[in-house]
Parts: sequence; C-alpha cells; structure tokens
Amino acid sequence: MSINLSELTIATARRHLANGDFTAVELAQSYLAEIEKKNKNLNAYREVFDDVLEQAKGADKKLPNFRTSKLPNLCGIPIALKDVIMLAGKRAGACSKILEGYVSPYDATAVSKLKVAGAIFLGRTNMDEFAMGSSTENYAYGVTKNPFDESRVAGGSSGGSAAAVAGNMSLAALGSDTGGSVRQPASLCGVVGLKPTYGSVSRFGLMAMSSSLDVIGPFTKTVEDAELLFDAIKGKDPMDSTSVEVSSSKLQVKSLRIGIPTMIRETEGIDPDVRKNFEDCLKQFRDAGHTVKEIELPTMHYALPVYYVIMPAEVSTNLARFDGVKYGLHVSGKNLLEDYVQTRGTGFGMEARRRILLGTYVLSSGYYDAYYAQAVRVRAKIEQELRDVFAGVDCIATPTSPTPAFKIGEKADDPLQMYLADIFTVVANIAGIPAISIPSGTAMREGKQLPLGLQLMAAHGREDVLFEAGKEFEKLRDNRGGV
Ligand code: GLN
Repeated sequence: MSINLSELTIATARRHLANGDFTAVELAQSYLAEIEKKNKNLNAYREVFDDVLEQAKGADKKLPNFRTSKLPNLCGIPIALKDVIMLAGKRAGACSKILEGYVSPYDATAVSKLKVAGAIFLGRTNMDEFAMGSSTENYAYGVTKNPFDESRVAGGSSGGSAAAVAGNMSLAALGSDTGGSVRQPASLCGVVGLKPTYGSVSRFGLMAMSSSLDVIGPFTKTVEDAELLFDAIKGKDPMDSTSVEVSSSKLQVKSLRIGIPTMIRETEGIDPDVRKNFEDCLKQFRDAGHTVKEIELPTMHYALPVYYVIMPAEVSTNLARFDGVKYGLHVSGKNLLEDYVQTRGTGFGMEARRRILLGTYVLSSGYYDAYYAQAVRVRAKIEQELRDVFAGVDCIATPTSPTPAFKIGEKADDPLQMYLADIFTVVANIAGIPAISIPSGTAMREGKQLPLGLQLMAAHGREDVLFEAGKEFEKLRDNRGGV
C-alpha cells in the first residue's frame, strides 16, 4: 500500500500497522525520504537520528504484542523531539552553543513513556535558544521556515517540531510550552498543538526554562491524535514532585458553554483576518447550538507583563548552572571567575543574555518587591479569576496568535513586538491550565494561504473538555469545507 503522509494520522497509522497494510520500517522510510527532500530548505530538524530504521525494525517485532496489550499503543509511530527533551545517548542542546557536545545521560519521563508505548524517534528539532522566542530565529544554527511560505517564520519556540509535522516530516512531535511555544507555532503552521495542565506531564528530562510555567506538549494533525499522545505521556512521576495526575473524567455535555474574554474586543494589533476568522469560528459554534458568551477577566491583560517578570526571574536562576564546569562548552580564562564570564559570554545568544539580565534585575534586593513579588501576587489574582469564570463556562476561546506567520526578520530586532505574539497564550501558563490550538482557517498573503488557529482553554486538569470541544470544532469546520 502506498502511504499518503499528508492524510495519515496517528489513529489511522495505528490501524494500518495493526492490519499489516504497511510495516513500521516502511512508514519510517517514507518520513526519512520526506525529510531528505525538504529539511535542507525548511531546517525543521537539527539532527536526524542514524538509528531510525533500527528502531522501526524493533517496532515491527513488537507490533504483535501490542495487539492484545493494554499499554498505550504507539508502536511504530514516528515522533520528533524538540532539542530540549532528553533521549539517552543522543545529543541535546536547547539549540544553544553553551551545550555544544552535550549528550543526554538519561531519558526524559515523557520519552521513556513513549518508548514503552513503542514509538520511534526520528530526530531532534530546531527551536529558539533555550525556548526563548516566538519565531525560531533566536538560534545559533539558522532559522526554521514555514512550510506554507518559506519567506515566513514557523513560529516558536518549538518551530522545528511544528514545521516537521506540518511538512509531513514526522507524524507527530513533542515541544515545550512556557508561554505559548507549542500553540503559537502550531497555529502558524496549521497543526494541532496542546499545552497540557502544568504538571500533568513530568518535567523530568525537559531542560528547564521557567520551572513554574514549563510543560511538554504534543504537535499532531488532529485533536484525536493530541489526545492519544497526551494519554501516552501524562501522569504523576516520582522524579518530578510538581507532577500531578489529571482527572480521567470525560466531558458529557451536549451543548458547550464557551466564554469569550471582553479583552479581545479591546486588544489592539489583532490582524483583521484573524478577527474575522475568530468571529466565524464563534458563529459555527453558535449555529450548532452551543452557547457563546462574553466573560470578564479584568486582570487577563496583566498576564503578559507578569510573564515577562516571572519567566526571566526563573530563567536567570535555571541558566546559572551553565558556567562551563559541568555541562557543554568551556572557555578558559585566567581564573575561575573569568572562565564563567568567558563561557557564558560566548555560549549564550542575545535573547538568553537579555532575559538573564532582566531576571537578575527583578530578583535583586531593592527591586524584588516591586517586580517579582508583585508579579506573583497578580498571578494569584489571575488564577482566582479564571477559577471563578470556569464555574460558568466549559472553555474559553481566543485566537491563538494575533497575526498569521510573519516574515523572517520582520520582528527579529524588536523584542517587544515579538513578546506581543504571546498575548493570548501566556495566560494559560500563568494559571497552569490546559489549552489547545486547532487550525481554524487561512489568511491570504502574497498569493499564499497562511494558517490561523483557534485557542481553547479549560479549567485545571480538564483536558477532556479541550478534546471534546476540539473534536466538535473540527467537525463543524470540516462540514463548512475545511480550513
Ligand atoms: N514566546 C514566548 C517567549 O519568548 C514563549 C516561549 C515558550 O513558551 N517557551 O518566552
């Protein structure tokens, strides 16, 4: 059987593999051929592993066991990993020069769970250095291009993972989301991206950016696939004391109650095509009998400023460990202090340095109360407001990104413009709640159709709401003639 990669999903691939329509080796070969064709241009992968076919052969042997097993079954399913998730024995570097030559000593918990489920790993994908960015341009080794228009960014920071799935160079991928890094690139590349509840996926083996915000999340073609992948990687983990078990309840309601923050009406800088597409999405929900109502979240517009205090504070402490002594790059100076200065000065790129400085400043005595402590208080208020709102709605909808994919270089020299890309996504990280981006349509630019995304957020631990509402949205969208 010939394999049509652009139509394949994890769900259909599992059936074909189980029926013997194709083998895991044949599937892996198809993806490797696609990578060979496209990656030079798109630069989605930083490294394609040299043992993919061996892994696939192993999966073919294991396939019969999975037919009767109760284990999550991703046997033979090819997955790409963001360069910030550890796979034992492979290089991992957060796309930073400071980790040059570093080899993962162990598997991330999400990776060991995927191994148990039988998945195979194609390679590690490009990203902004240490996951700081919205365009995969803050990266020492070249920019990742958008498969829909190569003059545009793929989003970020997990731009490589998004482009790999959108460009049919992987069936699915993992990324990390600290302020929107799974959802925003998913939106710009026309794939599904899930940011799970904080702690629902273990952070063990995920290189830390901002520990109270980071979470690993899947990129897939459909909401059903996002659910399959999430089910395989979630769960409490003794190696991560902040990990939690999410509820296994399933949303039963026939009619959804969807909240729209009034802030969207007031926010400047939302592209008119994005606004129109968002209105269309709401109309589809309304026409299908769901309730769409405005909600007040008075402190939501502080989420971005709060994020840009808490995140750099945690970045500055997390990145302190990269000093040339234990990990990666070492540049010698005349004494130990100079070793540190030389190594960090050479190893970190511009954005990483900017955030380390910012974080050190907001934590410094004299400024701590004015910035960090204040941001923590506002964060608690945002969390409380959201809890109150979720008593009256099942989910909250927003556009994922205020604009479609922008041009490479367009915002590279303007960090504040770049930070605004996260205006709708950071709130879910600040509150620790789950959120998903689903392809919702396109905007025409210079003769090219650029993908747009709808973001749905749900209460803490209620991924089930996102999956049910997300599948309902896909149905409505596809009945209207697709994206
Ligand atoms: N774009 C955001 C930032 O630059 C989000 C990053 C992320 O989620 N890792 O911080």
